[in-house]
Amino acid sequence: PPMHESAYDSTDVDATYLRFRVEEGDVKEAVRGASALNVAGLNVTVPHKGTVASLPFVELDETAERIGAVNTLDFADKSEDDTVARGYNTDASGALRALERKTEVAGKKAVLVGAGGAGRAIAFALAGEGATVEVVNRTYERGEKLADDVSEIGEATAYPLDELDDVVPDADIVINATTVGMEEDVSPVPADSLRPHHVVFDAVYTPLETRLLRDAEEAGATTVDGAWMLVYQGAEAFEIWTGKTAPVEKMNAVLREEL
Ligand code: NAP
Repeated sequence: PPMHESAYDSTDVDATYLRFRVEEGDVKEAVRGASALNVAGLNVTVPHKGTVASLPFVELDETAERIGAVNTLDFADKSEDDTVARGYNTDASGALRALERKTEVAGKKAVLVGAGGAGRAIAFALAGEGATVEVVNRTYERGEKLADDVSEIGEATAYPLDELDDVVPDADIVINATTVGMEEDVSPVPADSLRPHHVVFDAVYTPLETRLLRDAEEAGATTVDGAWMLVYQGAEAFEIWTGKTAPVEKMNAVLREEL
């Protein structure tokens, strides 16, 4: 909320950003209720992104449809009569904009560790931009399904977790989209596979400086932390809701202060 409210303050948008805890069985009513209350928009977070994407009265934008997850709802944008909102996935574009701070993505080879919600969004974003994606996931079948789905729009291959050592050194971009590094100071990527030519991006943002990012810095690699993805997914949601350009630097400063 402070990140969004700082954006409203500095762009003269008369709005407030509130958090609501919603139980799994109440998601449908929550979205319909928000529409009835003339709420302008919602962000949707774990574990409801997939449920919202499957609601019959939410019309999905192309990216959200491919990923099968919605993190942003816009109630103003209803193009068909029986829909109450349009659903977007700004995690995908948020991750892309975060990476693009440090590297071009088109034509690059990216190793993506993780195939959960964040992993799916990042894989589609990268492939859509012309990167080759190598998905490495603890549960191989889940990574394989993601690589298969992504292959419809670009190039993606799945590898088992024990082959991470082999695929990382040759990659241009290395991404963690697992939860590893949140609870304990451990990295999902072996430190000795990191190289100075790598751009290493960690989607984890608590803590901001993960073991993976510290290992990457020690290896001389370029790093991007998870707060940038969080800022850009929020910035894009702000732009969808307000039609104004998001004050990204301001949002970034407030978010980092909060974190
Ligand atoms: P999720 O859907 O629950 O997926 C979790 C992923 O982590 C799966 O690929 C899972 O593998 C893997 N995993 C979990 N424990 C593991 C372990 N011990 N070893 C190896 N792999 C393990 O979670 P999510 O929503 O994708 O979130 C993943 C991370 O991204 C979280 O830290 C979240 O905070 C972050 N995130 C950041 C942003 C941002 O804006 N920066 C946005 C969204 C998410 P299996 O398939 O084998 O279970």
